[in-house]
Amino acid sequence: MTKLRRGTRLVVASHNPGKVWEIQQLIEPYGLDAISAGDLGLAEPEESEPTFAGNAKLKAVAAATGSGLPALADDSGLEVDCLGGAPGIYSARWAGPGKDFGLAMKRLGEEITSRNGWVAPGPRANFISVLCLAWPDGETRLFEGKVFGHLVWPPRGGNGFGYDPMFVPDGGTETFGEMQPEGKYAISHRTRAFAAFKAAMLDAITPDAIAAKANAATTGTGRDLAAFSAAAASLSTRAESAAFIARLKDDLAVHGSDWKNVTLGAYLDALQRQLAEAPATEEPAWRTLAKALLAASCHD
Ligand code: IMP
Repeated sequence: MTKLRRGTRLVVASHNPGKVWEIQQLIEPYGLDAISAGDLGLAEPEESEPTFAGNAKLKAVAAATGSGLPALADDSGLEVDCLGGAPGIYSARWAGPGKDFGLAMKRLGEEITSRNGWVAPGPRANFISVLCLAWPDGETRLFEGKVFGHLVWPPRGGNGFGYDPMFVPDGGTETFGEMQPEGKYAISHRTRAFAAFKAAMLDAITPDAIAAKANAATTGTGRDLAAFSAAAASLSTRAESAAFIARLKDDLAVHGSDWKNVTLGAYLDALQRQLAEAPATEEPAWRTLAKALLAASCHD
């Protein structure tokens, strides 16, 4: 199979901003030029396969043939032992059309209760990620990563996304939702799948984090707006909203000169306008608020 090279344009075949951002963080040091399927206007195919591998392949092949570029897709989810592996490939679907993971976690907690699964220290579970790299000619390669641990109730922490606030990895005490992002990336299922992908496809490329960072510094304002947008677009709960506001406050302290509205009056005016203009959607209200809080820091 053809290896990837520095400068190769790679489509990240996902419309989930949290995942696109995480995958971009992983491939950026290798000098790959990542672009999301959403930014290319590619449609999101229906995940109709019964396995993670089948769905990853379906998404990667659709993006590669639709764009004429190599594409990397991830299909991932949470598998809970006492639920026979559920929610599994249905992990995202349990959150409903509004992608409300507060709701999905509540359902998960209830399903575990109905199986008497809340036995200390908590029901066994694992996250799984299957990555598929597809080339426009239809050639594909799969890579898998898992992280094992147990679940807790109630959910704890406002970092991460999805089921992170319920999952404590083996050897730790904090949930993925409480851990700093770097702690989660160090051990996550996606990082492990990526390690397999890297060993097979990227070893010829020397990671150059310093060059990547220098490049980012000259091309951007210093604010990581992609990370903020991803967080705003995937949060669902009150705790995640509080953590988001804390991050915004830290960002103001470091990058205040890049903010649009820095006085309280100007910021509140902009916030009011953003909320007044926010489209009526079915998404969780916390997410609409987070998007407006972010937008008020960058727009009038
Ligand atoms: P899909 O791969 O887009 O079908 O969605 C996978 C779903 O699994 C996500 O929407 C989350 O619900 C869950 N999931 C996958 N990876 C993670 C993770 O790192 N943290 C929390 N939830 C995850």
